[in-house]
Formats: sequence, structure tokens, C-alpha cells
Amino acid sequence: MGSPVLSPPLSRTDAQIEAMSAEEVLSWAYEEFGESLCISCSWQKQSSVLVHMVSEIGLDVDIVELDTHLFFKETYETRERLVERYGLTLIVPEVLTIAEQHKVEGPNLWESKPDHCCHIRKVEPLIRALEPYHAWVSGIRREQSPSRANAKKLERSDRYGVWKVQPLADWTEKDVWRYIMSNEIPYNPLHDAGYRSIGCMPCTRPTRPDEEERAGRWAGSDKLECGIHVEKTDS
Ligand code: SF4
Repeated sequence: MGSPVLSPPLSRTDAQIEAMSAEEVLSWAYEEFGESLCISCSWQKQSSVLVHMVSEIGLDVDIVELDTHLFFKETYETRERLVERYGLTLIVPEVLTIAEQHKVEGPNLWESKPDHCCHIRKVEPLIRALEPYHAWVSGIRREQSPSRANAKKLERSDRYGVWKVQPLADWTEKDVWRYIMSNEIPYNPLHDAGYRSIGCMPCTRPTRPDEEERAGRWAGSDKLECGIHVEKTDS
């Protein structure tokens, strides 16, 4: 796990960063952190935006894929299309195979202890993946759910020992689609089948237009987040 570290003062204030466009946030973060900056991708629509945007600006940023081994086939196909179009090289932290997890933790951990399953398959791999970096870009948006309503474009994470860079924090779902369509970017076709938010197969269902965008994740439970964007340290 990343331990809390003292980091030097940044060249911009929170208010200045909040006033920046997504492209400006990415460009500033690259200037500030250079090769110590990475992007995490789960191949939803926000991943499509971010990989296109860094390519357009011409930033050479590492891409970390958090593959739980439980993605939909369409998600893996989307990854391949984006890798091919943008020439991406992915950094993929190791994770237990599903068979190993069944053996160690019992079958279908996502049903019995979903928080623990997310911890093993998402949080721990991310903690390891972020060790070499000082800043981590993700595609979270305030509008996605109440649990993300206060997300800022830049936050400090003591849990991971990095700056969290969230260039799309103030984007709406419509903004995302407008950007994808106007730039003809490959995107996950499950979005066209009603999946407004896409995670692992066992924990994702389509979302109705009148529901919150992430209502199809862990539906029927009070779980809202996989835990990677939460500043807690237990599982
Ligand atoms: Fe496990 Fe579901 Fe979390 Fe995926 S989303 S890691 S299957 S609990």
C-alpha cells in the first residue's frame, strides 16, 4: 500500500485547476508529474475519452488496466479496438485467477462478500500498480452518483500516496457522448444496450434512463463503489 508522503507544493491552486478544461488539466498534470503520471482504464465510455484526449494532446502517459478477469466480452473487444487505434501499451497488475479465488475464498465471492472480492480484484492490484507513480488520472464524474458528487479535478489520496487527477469531474453523461461521437472514438457497445455504467459481469445490469447512472452496479445491495475511489483502508 502507498504510504502517506510529503509532496512538494504544486504549481497551481485548487481553484485554478477547477477552472481548467479537461485538456488543460491533463496537460498541466503531465507538465507537473511527467512520467510519474498514469491513467487507469476499465474500458467504459470515460476510458474512450481519456485515451483519445491524451493522444490528441500528444502526451505519452502510461495506461494501467485493472482487469478483474470478469469483464464482459464486449469490454475486452473495446480494449482491443482502443489499443489498436491509439497504439496503447498496457500495464496490467497481476490478480488471482478466478479458480484460485474460488479455492482460497470459496465460490462466487462477489455474492457472499462483494467488498472483499473488489478488494482482491481491484483495490490491491491498483495499490501495487500505483507504487511507481505520483499521480493517477481516472475518469470519474460528479454526476455519476451521490458517492462521487464532491469529486474534485485534483485530490490527494493518502491511501495510495498519489495525487488523483480527475479531468472529467465536471462533465455530464451528455458531454461524454458528445465528445465520443464528434471525435468518432471507439466505445463499449454495451452502452448502446442500456448499460450506462459497466463493471464485472456478475455485478452489472443495464440501467434505466430514470435511474442514476451507476444504479446497475451491485443492484439490489447498498454497495455503491468498488472501493478504489474510497479513502478507507479495510476490506
Ligand atoms: Fe468482484 Fe463484482 Fe467487485 Fe468485480 S465488481 S471485483 S466481480 S465484487
